Amino acid sequence: MNEIEKTGQAEFDFAAPNPAQKEPSALPPFLRQEGFYFVALGGAEKVGMNMYAYLSDGRIIVVDAGYDFLNDDFPGMELGLADPAWLESYRDCIDAMFITHSHEDHFGAIAHIWPRLRCPVYATDFTIGHILPRLREYKLENEVELISVNQNPVVKLPDFEVEYVPVVHSLPENSALRIKTKYGTVFHATDWRFDDCHIDFMKTSYDRLKQVGEQGVDLYVGDSIHMAHPVEQPSEMVIRESLIELLPKFKNTLVATCFASNVARMESLLIAAHAAGRTPVIAGMSLIQNMNIAKECGILKDVPHYVEAKQAIDIPLDKMLYICAGSQGNYRSGLTRIVNGENKDIKLGKGDAIIFSSQIIPGNEEKIERMQEKLRDAGVEVISSEEYLVHTSGHGCKDDIRRMFEMIKPKIVIPVHGDKRAIRQQKRFTEELDCGVRQVLVVRDGDVVNVKSSYAEIVGEVPTDELGVDRKKVISLGSQLVKNRRRIAYNCSLFITAVLAEDWSVEDLQITSIDILEENDFAALADEIKADMLKAIPAEAVKVSYRAQAVKEYIAAKIRKRIFNATGIKPVTFIHFYKRSRDGEADFVAADTSVNCETTQILYDSDK
Ligand SMILES: [Zn+2]
Ligand SMILES: [Zn+2]
Repeated sequence: MNEIEKTGQAEFDFAAPNPAQKEPSALPPFLRQEGFYFVALGGAEKVGMNMYAYLSDGRIIVVDAGYDFLNDDFPGMELGLADPAWLESYRDCIDAMFITHSHEDHFGAIAHIWPRLRCPVYATDFTIGHILPRLREYKLENEVELISVNQNPVVKLPDFEVEYVPVVHSLPENSALRIKTKYGTVFHATDWRFDDCHIDFMKTSYDRLKQVGEQGVDLYVGDSIHMAHPVEQPSEMVIRESLIELLPKFKNTLVATCFASNVARMESLLIAAHAAGRTPVIAGMSLIQNMNIAKECGILKDVPHYVEAKQAIDIPLDKMLYICAGSQGNYRSGLTRIVNGENKDIKLGKGDAIIFSSQIIPGNEEKIERMQEKLRDAGVEVISSEEYLVHTSGHGCKDDIRRMFEMIKPKIVIPVHGDKRAIRQQKRFTEELDCGVRQVLVVRDGDVVNVKSSYAEIVGEVPTDELGVDRKKVISLGSQLVKNRRRIAYNCSLFITAVLAEDWSVEDLQITSIDILEENDFAALADEIKADMLKAIPAEAVKVSYRAQAVKEYIAAKIRKRIFNATGIKPVTFIHFYKRSRDGEADFVAADTSVNCETTQILYDSDK
């Protein structure tokens, strides 16, 4: 999915392990007793921050540790993750973490989550190829015990047997997990679809799925993203053929964008470029890194020739296919730079074309629409999956779910990894199917599900939270800090510095803001307000026993009212307050260090 910011992570401030947590902690009562439990810690009712736990007789395994891509409601933060605090409390009970595939929403947050759990991590080679650079960014590569499952897809632990079962998704080596315990078997399907595309590294092991079904599956946990789609979607091979057919139609500059992790699509674009007599030019770290990992893991063999953007200076624009990431409109992406005319090599204009070989991740609709309209306005032909066969999803449709359930025959189904509507759709669809499912359970993050062979029930709740990566720290998305940022982002900010004489008259006043009006307009308004305010504070405010507080509130409220009357804005207001000391010699600039002076800050609610 998206690239992540690469600045400063090496200095990241990891939460130090709590010494009190060194000894095994007693599990909550509902987990202390024998039995088998499932807990979604992130991702139960959304697309993103996947993290799940399975517990058998008090031992724990963790599945996935993914990022969420945050929207504009969280200023300054792009990435979210599920809070591992509850798991951290019982980390001596954790036997291992299993990563299902290398999409950011499944492995991305591993460098934030692993230091708090410190357990062995299992994954396929291609996924490890993505995990390692992420760990390197945080100087963790030598600390994490990373174990490849390519040679031994069955991991045997005292209380769990976990098998990686290949199922197609939109990247190589995606795996469902068959988790066997003495109480029963779970099929944790992660993200998947069926696609018999005959691309070597895009295979589903149907034989194994049938065997898994014959051996018995008590619980199925899997993604719900594409539940609105009733019928089979085009195969990846159909998209490849379509691209081969489509490319020769374009005669000028041609750009294509796709998800960096979609190695099959990258290969399709390379093949289609050569078929159209164009040299494929790959731009962007994430695309090149994915190609390199796929080659190193032996997934891509006999890769069609391509060049990296920096080597492509001599290739005429109408003889190349320029492939870049950024299909989701991320403002730092290579594609955004092209659209904004900031790429010195590629300028798109009349007669040029761009192929969006991707889908819109929910939440990015507006950004992508804006980007595409800007291109159309410039005369660029925009080719998207709405009108052309240039993309197919990696998530299963209703028909895929039916086929899956006919093969693995689960007794209980817990749909996850979709918005609430998609999860309801999967519940309804599954209940209408005649394939032996006895129960469909919808859960929220934190629900503790006791899984028995014939039914499951929610028996308790554990604390969960959503965190945001805030440059060098991780903070709760529900924290006052985040709320304050949002309030400032939406309501503007106002800074007042008031200097008061010994008799409480206003000696000086500074009123500043950078986001209420243009600089000169605000300066004029501030001067006007200041002229009115440089008068004695009313006696009522000065006489009360909480005098300083009352005076500050009076000044701030009065100025805010003037700002509101002039602009309609109710800014978040900060007031610094200095009062001259009795000897009259206090230096006002350094007044906050003087015992005779007082500096205070009041944060007013925007609705006051
Ligand atoms: Zn995925
Ligand atoms: Zn996913």
